[in-house]
Amino acid sequence: MPPYAFFHKQFMPLAEAKIGILTHALHYGTACFDGIRGQWNDEQQQMLLFRVKDHYERMHKGCRILKIDLPYSGDELCKLTVELVETSGYRENVYIRPLAYKSSEQIGVRLHDLEDDFFIIVATLPDYLDAEKGARCCTSSWRRIDDSMIPARGKITGTYVNSALAKTEANKRGFDEAILLTHDGHVSEGSGENIFLVLEGKLVTPPSSDNILMGITRDTVMQLAQKELGVSTVERQIDRSELYTADEAFFTGTAAHVSPIVEVDERPVGNGEIGKLTKELQRRYFEVINGKNPKYLGWCTPAYAKTVKAGRG
Ligand code: PMP
Repeated sequence: MPPYAFFHKQFMPLAEAKIGILTHALHYGTACFDGIRGQWNDEQQQMLLFRVKDHYERMHKGCRILKIDLPYSGDELCKLTVELVETSGYRENVYIRPLAYKSSEQIGVRLHDLEDDFFIIVATLPDYLDAEKGARCCTSSWRRIDDSMIPARGKITGTYVNSALAKTEANKRGFDEAILLTHDGHVSEGSGENIFLVLEGKLVTPPSSDNILMGITRDTVMQLAQKELGVSTVERQIDRSELYTADEAFFTGTAAHVSPIVEVDERPVGNGEIGKLTKELQRRYFEVINGKNPKYLGWCTPAYAKTVKAGRG
């Protein structure tokens, strides 16, 4: 079965879904996208899509920022996604990438008087960070792009040049991931992940005003910590030096899951081992996304009609 895409309002083999080289979004980064996980549940012979509607709600907001007309409701987008995943027929974990973009084949920097288009693709994705081993990180020499420049909350393709610069710099210097600071030196996030610290038993994470993407995994972890472990999260500005004094640290993201951070700027985090709270949150998070905690099945949308055992009533 070839990989499929939803493109130009129909399902087609990915290999046939092509855009022209003059496409506006290719030249100017005028697109917004999202990333959704499908977890293969072998026991149930089912693909579970995690918090699909929440991802599309975020994408609608991005489209408003970019003046992109995305002519589908959240429910319609969920339905299209389920249909695409089902058509593709994967029996392993997948990553779904919807993308809305300025599609006019026209030169000229602007957002207005341009056509819009939308596609969804589904693919497999290798492990992004090693969730078992923990990431060795550095603070980046690149600063996180500010809301007054390109809004991070929009998940806009052009913004990811900022992430790519930081990621490549970190990797070439021998680190697994970069931690970006805001222009005034506060901790913002990883190149493709939100960040949490554990300080005196509490979770601390940067607020939306520090130019983070409002992560769905971030929200999931905050809810699990509160409801399952009675641990609340403080959203506040974090100084760089707190990265060096935290007891534990971890990243969250759809691609990165819950990934422990074991080192920052050549200083061990805590005792350099994966932290206890991090481990517990990681365990509970995987339970939830894999449809193994009945309390949270509402977050898991089964994609395969024939073997529905969870969620969809
Ligand atoms: N920050 C950035 C810059 C990201 O690209 C991502 C990945 N989407 C995240 C944070 C985490 O967001 P989410 O948990 O919704 O995937």
